[in-house]
Amino acid sequence: MQSKLDDLPQLMKQANKVYLDNFPAVTNFERAIFFSWYCDIRDCKFCYMSTQPKDQEFKQKGRRTTESLLAETLLIKHLKWDFGFLSGGKGAYDSDDFVELVKKIHIVLGEKIWINIGPLKKEELKQLQPYVKGVVGSIETVNKKVHDFVCPSKPIEPYLEMFQESTKLGMDNAITIILGLGETEDDFPALKEMIEKHNISKIHFYGLNPHKDTSFEDSEPPTKQYQAWWIAKTRIECPKIDIQMGIWEDRVNRVSYLLDAGANSISKYPALKVFGKESAYEIEKECQKARRTMRGTLTKLPKIDWDMAVEELTLDQELKSKIKIKLKLYLKKMEKNLK
Ligand code: SF4
Repeated sequence: MQSKLDDLPQLMKQANKVYLDNFPAVTNFERAIFFSWYCDIRDCKFCYMSTQPKDQEFKQKGRRTTESLLAETLLIKHLKWDFGFLSGGKGAYDSDDFVELVKKIHIVLGEKIWINIGPLKKEELKQLQPYVKGVVGSIETVNKKVHDFVCPSKPIEPYLEMFQESTKLGMDNAITIILGLGETEDDFPALKEMIEKHNISKIHFYGLNPHKDTSFEDSEPPTKQYQAWWIAKTRIECPKIDIQMGIWEDRVNRVSYLLDAGANSISKYPALKVFGKESAYEIEKECQKARRTMRGTLTKLPKIDWDMAVEELTLDQELKSKIKIKLKLYLKKMEKNLK
């Protein structure tokens, strides 16, 4: 039987042309920041957080400190990466504390951010809007049967309602899709319909990362050809959409292939942890192979006065002191990698 992947070379050629007709030949790395390992839902079958402790004590302990999140944001800014989105488990913050956090990130980054924290109501969106440019819905899969199985307590409808409200407020909408959960290429029309109907301007295509102690522990991640098929098809059918490819450290060698399939940028790679390591150089080479100029760097630390960069922020002095300490720890690790 003929597989849809048989047409992939032709599809990719077309997708690459559509990409270059709509975007410059550049790419970049996008860093998503996670604020917690705690989640109220905790039953999505692929998710690492579903394996984490369920007690209330962990709700506090599983949250990152504000200074750590802000130090990371400052690094993103100066390494010239893009701030993918701010995300974390549901229930880790109450609403006022979360707005306060987003406001601080906005101060450090100097621009509005994307957030991915579950479906939000109109009033919540309005509160966040001064600091937030768009909302990301973790749809994971558009195959309804697969979705009911993998995300039993995370229905899609509230996200669609959020997209209606965010659109009315003039905010942008994005979705995340994890390939390899049990969907097939036959689900593409449902994805296209969702993109068009809900003003989705950005899509993150991740591949399953099989976590220990989850239902997918023994599953295989999707092949690069399968991930490329979804990217190419989306590029051709939705020429102007912003497409991120999610890769993990073990999938660096598919970067040029997925850029050729029409992706805009790279995400999910643990760039801080492996900054300046071999795989970081490999990503930069992969971008060259796809004839894309990469904005920002995964291998060179900019020579700036980091203490001064923190001092210039309009934050209270105590927090700035804590950010400096955290930042030094990150930089020390990155410098050690470079040696
Ligand atoms: S809601 Fe998100 S963080 Fe929580 S278990 Fe599901 S996928 Fe994981």
